[in-house]
Amino acid sequence: MKKRIVVQKYGGSSVKDADRIKAVAERICSYKNKNTDVAVVVSAMADTTDDLIELAAKIAKNPTDREMDLLLASGEQISSSLLAMAVREKGVESVALTGFQAGFRTDKVHGKARVHDIDGSRIKKAFKEGKVVIVAGFQGMTDEGDITTLGRGGSDLSAVALAKAINADVCEIYTDVTGIYTTDPRVVAEARKLREITFDEMLEMASLGAQVMQARSIEVAKRFNIPLHVRSSYAKEEGTMIVKNKKKIEEIAVTGITCNKNEAKVTICDVPDKPGISAMLFNAVARAGVNVDVIVQNVSHTKKTDISFTVPKTDVVRALKITREVSAKIGGGEVLEDRNVARVSIVGSGMRSHHGIAASMFEALAKASINIGMIATSEISISCIIDLDKVNDAVKVLHKAFGLEKVK
Ligand code: ADP
Ligand code: ASP
Ligand code: MG
Repeated sequence: MKKRIVVQKYGGSSVKDADRIKAVAERICSYKNKNTDVAVVVSAMADTTDDLIELAAKIAKNPTDREMDLLLASGEQISSSLLAMAVREKGVESVALTGFQAGFRTDKVHGKARVHDIDGSRIKKAFKEGKVVIVAGFQGMTDEGDITTLGRGGSDLSAVALAKAINADVCEIYTDVTGIYTTDPRVVAEARKLREITFDEMLEMASLGAQVMQARSIEVAKRFNIPLHVRSSYAKEEGTMIVKNKKKIEEIAVTGITCNKNEAKVTICDVPDKPGISAMLFNAVARAGVNVDVIVQNVSHTKKTDISFTVPKTDVVRALKITREVSAKIGGGEVLEDRNVARVSIVGSGMRSHHGIAASMFEALAKASINIGMIATSEISISCIIDLDKVNDAVKVLHKAFGLEKVK
């Protein structure tokens, strides 16, 4: 009989101290039996990654990407070794593996490396020996033998990629909330847990700021159709299934609300309104490795126009420098920055077949006296750039306007 293979991922909030590590070990052992193999991916304990980044900043202005990855990967090596010890204490054989030892091969892009392939042979050998395998998440290794990390929240990706590589029957993501909610339950008390959500919706929500899952992990889950079960490591109850298609025949228009407080707006004023300017600007920004988000260019009546765009706050200094250089080259005007902005978004596959959703969104924001600075749409989302200090109110207002407190 083929054994069941379960992949479980425990986030940093689930292994924040010794007691939590023991509790997680208990749960892992309850899954392991002679018919089930368990591979666990674990994040660094609590805020370890943030703390390490802060520590490095105190020591070096521009640390090398290679050493940063080596440093950050250590967080997951601590939690994985401790968790393996805790599992063994419960009488179940276990082995902790770094990303490299678990066979994760990546490209060389430090800080956001892509997984090329996973050689699962060492994990399979450990399964044969009856061991639970505990893999340090968020990391891999280049062909040259350098340690890389997979971007913030990257242990989600480690888990999904591992589930694909070892052909797991189940991939469970354990966190500190009981599933995916209509919006962040820590911001809106009325948020409701969703029984299921599609890959497309989760990808959109994650890309638009819902930190609960890393967007890249959902891309991989979608590509290989790996259903994910997001649930709490603190409770027994069933969580949310992230799946290709929902069971419900007809969809409601809006499934969730997200916000992103990590955006900043750059405006380049008085740009000559002629072909090639946007191409030149955004090529230069892209070459600097900055991801541009919402772009707005006004129609000009004077042969000059303003172009505004948003970038992650962490990239704004770089974006400003490049934009000022481009402005000087093309005879443009001043370049302005605004860090007091945030994005609020509504997401739902049902938007494809419902009308008037944008109007309802704008009306709800208007009623709450929230001014809309920029608007962006995709097939299944509408986003507004608004003032940062209004964003939590905006999420609450929209959650109510679309009746999400009743959604399951
Ligand atoms: P982990 O440590 O398990 O990786 P994260 O902190 O990365 O956990 O993600 C879990 C957090 O995501 C929750 O505590 C919650 O505040 C936040 N979150 C944001 N949006 C949502 C949502 N729509 N549903 C559930 N949680 C959300
Ligand atoms: N520890 C890493 C981070 O904080 C990876 C993860 O937790 O998924 O981003
Ligand atoms: Mg996370």
